[in-house]
Amino acid sequence: MTNSTEGSIARRAFFGIAAGGTAAVAVPGLAGAAAAQVLAPSGAASPGSLGARAAGPGPADWAALARDLTGTLVQPGQSSYATAKLLFDPRFDSQHPAGIAYVKSPNDVATCIAFARKYQLPFTARSGGHSYGGWSGTSGLIIDVSNFKMGAVSGSTAVVGAGTRLIDFYQGLAAKGRAVPGGSCATVGIAGLALGGGIGVTARAYGLTCDSIESVQIVMADGSVLTATADPKQHGDLFWACQGGGGGNFGVVTSFTFRTVPAPSPCLFGMSWPWSQAAKVIAAWQNWAPHAPEQLWSNLHLAAAPGGHTPNISVGGTYLGSVNDAAAQLDALWAKSGRPANGSWYLENPQSFLSAMLAEAGCGTIGYQACHLPWYAPGGKLTRQPQYAKSDFFTHPLSSSGINTLLAQVASLQQVAGAAGGVGGIAFDSLGGAVNAVAPGATAFVHRTSLFSAQYTTDWTNGASSTGTANQLAWLRRFWAAMRPYASGEAYQNYPDPDLVNYAQAYYGSNLPRLSGLKKKYDPHNVFKFPQAIPYPKAPVSVPVTG
Ligand SMILES: Cc1cc2nc3c(=O)[nH]c(=O)nc-3n(C[C@H](O)[C@H](O)[C@H](O)COP(=O)(O)OP(=O)(O)OC[C@H]3O[C@@H](n4cnc5c(N)ncnc54)[C@H](O)[C@@H]3O)c2cc1C
Repeated sequence: MTNSTEGSIARRAFFGIAAGGTAAVAVPGLAGAAAAQVLAPSGAASPGSLGARAAGPGPADWAALARDLTGTLVQPGQSSYATAKLLFDPRFDSQHPAGIAYVKSPNDVATCIAFARKYQLPFTARSGGHSYGGWSGTSGLIIDVSNFKMGAVSGSTAVVGAGTRLIDFYQGLAAKGRAVPGGSCATVGIAGLALGGGIGVTARAYGLTCDSIESVQIVMADGSVLTATADPKQHGDLFWACQGGGGGNFGVVTSFTFRTVPAPSPCLFGMSWPWSQAAKVIAAWQNWAPHAPEQLWSNLHLAAAPGGHTPNISVGGTYLGSVNDAAAQLDALWAKSGRPANGSWYLENPQSFLSAMLAEAGCGTIGYQACHLPWYAPGGKLTRQPQYAKSDFFTHPLSSSGINTLLAQVASLQQVAGAAGGVGGIAFDSLGGAVNAVAPGATAFVHRTSLFSAQYTTDWTNGASSTGTANQLAWLRRFWAAMRPYASGEAYQNYPDPDLVNYAQAYYGSNLPRLSGLKKKYDPHNVFKFPQAIPYPKAPVSVPVTG
């Protein structure tokens, strides 16, 4: 193989999917009264119930909340409400929160929690708003942490506000020549990503995003502000839960401190083959990608379209090293898969970390400033995308019957009467390397023995017919069901799937009893609730919950 940028015109087009101490907070004004109730001895009230007024807040109460905040409260009728209520996926545009609080301090967060508890109002935290279940939205109060932005990067650490979007995270780190492993999508929030794991293109070299957390500052249900670190004397058990236990379960994180590494200079590559070679390519990729040197990360993507042409199969990835070494790795794949045709592959020379992350986010041609949602940053040009998704982890390579099932299911989307702009497929992300060097119980992220993860998705154009999207969802469910004999049964907590009946076991596996115990310890009234929250234990938990 030569050092080639051959086929660069087609690049990106291949990839539709990438893949402690306690400080008491003085809660002011009206909300302070509620906080005092919260801090009263527990046990008298049922979880979540304070015996307080249940009629819901009236206009005067909301006005008092707005006065109590140093940040801004947005409500229906205000001009900014139309965009303030939006999550990333337009599927959730029918949600109408009663208020969105753009908090500016941990004290603001505590005020919001106390307000919601006093009036028994549903509430949720929102960082980037990408929850697949729409669970950073509510009919009640959204606590939006967007004002907590990228902080200081110095030495080998970075202080990162919980509302930092991934592209700003990478930009802030790269400006100081540093990096932290993270996901691909520019608009994803650091809080949701890091609390649930964080799989990205440097994961095999540096681990998951949650593996790089050194401390979290988090506001608890009673309004106290904790800093949790790995030190057992500084809420080490809560820190453990924040490394993969998933957002929305224990408190509202306001900032993270991450351990950083020198920014690498990745070589990016991509390739595709005719669909007729797909079985051979899958067999080759799954025996190559998870076992390659840690510098290499890749994903395998199979895609089709309702009523569309022949499905396609592609591989993309990054190599953190020289282009010659990257070429040798691709040669090793091609020896098994067959070489892609001229013009259907590229391998680029090493580039800056930020430029690589912009390219992975699909922003290679539009640049950093445009790589935001328009209402989030001036000049932002990104748009939102409706989508359904499901996930799996695979601990064994697919057998030939598994490969045949996979191919048949992807191809079957062609027979579906889909929605306008309908597409669908599956993206496998290679694991192993630094991800699997961590023991399953060392952090709350249990999925440490997998060869690769998979994300099944189907997208359509915003505003497309509901019949077509329902047909695509039915296809997605059939596809996922057909893969049950081959998958591990675990699922990624950052790709939450409202269909999953046994979600807690699938997301947390053997870590579930400890997480459930910590839920009871740190959220004793079960205040932080959403449809797939860590279950509040009904029976005594025998697993130790310290350190
Ligand atoms: C287009 C797209 C691309 C993606 N790419 C990747 C990827 O490359 N790698 C990967 O690993 N994942 C990826 N994901 C999944 C992503 O990691 C999760 O959706 C993640 O939860 C999103 O975080 P968020 O802050 O944007 O979402 P939010 O919806 O704001 O939050 C997600 C959950 O965390 C809670 N939460 C939010 N803020 C806080 C806080 N401050 N404290 C406590 N809880 C909080 C919310 O209440 C919600 O339950 C992608 C998702 C999408 C939609």
